[in-house]
Amino acid sequence: MEFINLKTQQQAIQTGLEQRIKSVLSHCQYIMGPEVEELEKRLAEFVGVRHVITCSSGTDSLLIPLMALGIGPGDAVFTTPFTFIATAEVIVLLGATPVFVDINPHTFNMDPERLDEVIKSVLTNGKLKPKGVIPVDLFGLPADYDPIISLAGHHGIFVIEDAAQSLGGSYQGRRAGSLGHVGATSFFPAKPLGCYGDGGAIFTDDEELAQKMISIRIHGKGSHKYETLRLGINGRLDTLQAAVLLAKLEVFPQELKARQRIAMTYNKGLESIVEVPVIPDGFISAWAQYSILTERRAVVQANLHKRGIPTAIYYPTPLHLQPVFAYLGYKEKDFPVAEATAKRILSLPMHPYLTDAEIEEIVEGIRTSSGPC
Ligand SMILES: *Cc1c(COP(=O)(O)O)cnc(C)c1O
Repeated sequence: MEFINLKTQQQAIQTGLEQRIKSVLSHCQYIMGPEVEELEKRLAEFVGVRHVITCSSGTDSLLIPLMALGIGPGDAVFTTPFTFIATAEVIVLLGATPVFVDINPHTFNMDPERLDEVIKSVLTNGKLKPKGVIPVDLFGLPADYDPIISLAGHHGIFVIEDAAQSLGGSYQGRRAGSLGHVGATSFFPAKPLGCYGDGGAIFTDDEELAQKMISIRIHGKGSHKYETLRLGINGRLDTLQAAVLLAKLEVFPQELKARQRIAMTYNKGLESIVEVPVIPDGFISAWAQYSILTERRAVVQANLHKRGIPTAIYYPTPLHLQPVFAYLGYKEKDFPVAEATAKRILSLPMHPYLTDAEIEEIVEGIRTSSGPC
């Protein structure tokens, strides 16, 4: 059994995929070819934003807006400790300071009440200047944006939505990617919409910021390639990856429906045995991951492994306890919810081509897991 089955998906889209790739091979515009613009247009319609800027990875989709917003030393950017390293890494790369905010124990996303407290304590402390917040839509479920946006507005700071896992999800009728001032997503192969390499995209309605980010994506270029207005990066999405994504977009809405159905089937089989994911009213998850909470994780994982069922732990170490961030001075118990979640979380196989028989096998493997914790 596969944790994420990309082979079956490839077979499902084979014809369209080959046509798309062939077309790139015949026009030979491997960098910024017509597929890149077509993809940006299609994604703008899908997410419901004015500007889409595709880029080289999910990490760069976070880095580019932070560069455009002029983040640097002395600035505080608030984020969650329960995420992939990239979310905080980009803040530090620019010389700014990540300030962590504990999560909600049910949604695993940034707790807006904690955010309020942490912003206030940074202001009281006076060493750092609050500049922005990067909530993460973990496992595909959007963070709780209404209170976050309202707090951000009150303090005059920006919101960058880390939608790397949530493309296709939504919050109060709005699509993930459109929920902050800027949205950032990843097309890493394992994400809900993945390409066949690295890729990402940035979403915004802010015209001025969009123009800056378009410039930063290609070395800070001005009106032509050899005029440089600012420092930028080599942050383009390959034309071939855009072609792959255009083929995958054709089946993406169906795949999202399949993920919903699979998550509900999991819930039914598992809700009496372990803690299943909580999706609050008004939220729709893109189900990048289906993650359960159990005190007996090691036993469950070992039992599934014996049956040939792969699982994963996202994430075993919260970011405030990562060696790279030791200089920030955080210690154990600083973020009790994130730490407790990291000890109990377990992600099960999740992809649109998972069969009912496979789900049954997984549920059975969890039900029959016994032994010491
Ligand atoms: C995958 C991921 C990223 C980084 O995306 P890459 O395309 O791998 O650079 C950032 N944030 C989160 C939450 C992710 O899951």
